[in-house]
Amino acid sequence: MENVIIVGSGPAGHTAAIYTARANLKPLMFEGMMAGGIAPGGQLTTTTEIENFPGFPEGVSGPVLMERMREQSVKHGARIETETVVRVDLSRRPFRVMTDSGREVEAGALIIASGATARRMNIPGEEKFWQRGISACAVCDGALPLFRNKVLVVVGGGDSAIEEACHLSKYASKVILMHRRDVLRASKAMQDRVTANPVIAVMWHTVPVEAYGDKFLGGLRVKDVVTGALTELPCGGLFYAIGHAPNTGFLDGQLDLDEAGYIRTVPGTTHTSAAGVFACGDVQDTKYRQAVLAAGSGCMAALDAERYLNDHQHV
Ligand code: FAD
Ligand code: NDP
Repeated sequence: MENVIIVGSGPAGHTAAIYTARANLKPLMFEGMMAGGIAPGGQLTTTTEIENFPGFPEGVSGPVLMERMREQSVKHGARIETETVVRVDLSRRPFRVMTDSGREVEAGALIIASGATARRMNIPGEEKFWQRGISACAVCDGALPLFRNKVLVVVGGGDSAIEEACHLSKYASKVILMHRRDVLRASKAMQDRVTANPVIAVMWHTVPVEAYGDKFLGGLRVKDVVTGALTELPCGGLFYAIGHAPNTGFLDGQLDLDEAGYIRTVPGTTHTSAAGVFACGDVQDTKYRQAVLAAGSGCMAALDAERYLNDHQHV
């Protein structure tokens, strides 16, 4: 019987681990094994430089930041298992948590910090060319020889799309930022990076509708969403940067979720619709989705869980 189990290992999960460990709750974290296609450590392991996490005026690499958080969790006594939670039973107390190794553990409180996963468009040809020219992580895959000196397409108009386009511009002959509208969603600072980069061109109100090629991606059929016109765009890479879906499937409808599948929390707290279950980070954040906020809400979840366990004399 555990006091508290933490599901997920991004900035939210690790901050919750550090706080609950320092509160002597001996937390158990399931960090996931490529859960939602993401390595332990979460989304920041797929990026390069983080410039906006306080405490690093010179910037810090995403994987390094997450490794440091993990070390800090372990240092304070959190136990971490590289397993993915596949099912939970919230209908009884203590809660039951089942993982992909067949393990079943009981806990007095749960902290859900399972984050979010990159979306794909599932266009015809996508399965065939997945990892043969199509990817959802430029930082992970962009440096591969497959993409060198090619025309590369990034789909999306948010901060991720621009970050990915800038990263790819180091390897590509040309990067096309393909956006379905004529206004970018990205912050002004990120938009300025596009303007300043001669390798990047923006293709407005356009979406890919089919991928073609031989063994590897050779091009895209693209649609102008205003005129409906279809054209062919020869290219060697397609990178999706169209946002993320929350990793909440393992909850199997046992918590109140919003229309997009994000966990609903009581405003200003990490309380969910089930007493004793707390949610933090991107899995409950549809608006801000930033590492520092994920960490902040991980702290809130730890304090909320500690209070709950004290009130219910579980410790
Ligand atoms: P995540 O980071 O999503 O981590 C969740 C973890 O839980 C994952 O490892 C996942 O595998 C695991 N998991 C999922 N389901 C399960 C399960 N069932 N069992 C066990 N484990 C599970 N934010 C910034 O502030 N600054 C930036 O510069 C910045 N750059 C970014 C660049 C990119 C490319 C992306 C995609 C995001 C960026 N963000 C940035 C946003 C930031 O990464 C997220 O806000 C933050 O990582 C969210 O943290 P989290 O702890 O909620 O979850
Ligand atoms: P966003 O949700 O912000 O943007 C997704 C983009 O993809 C939008 O432009 C959207 O278009 C487009 N899109 C969505 N679905 C489709 C579709 N089916 N077809 C075509 N286009 C589609 O996600 P991001 O991943 O960019 O950012 C997530 C969070 O992470 C944000 O809060 C962001 O600020 C943060 N982040 C911060 C960074 C930083 O601070 N340096 C770097 C990267 C991410 P539309 O605009 O029309 O809706």
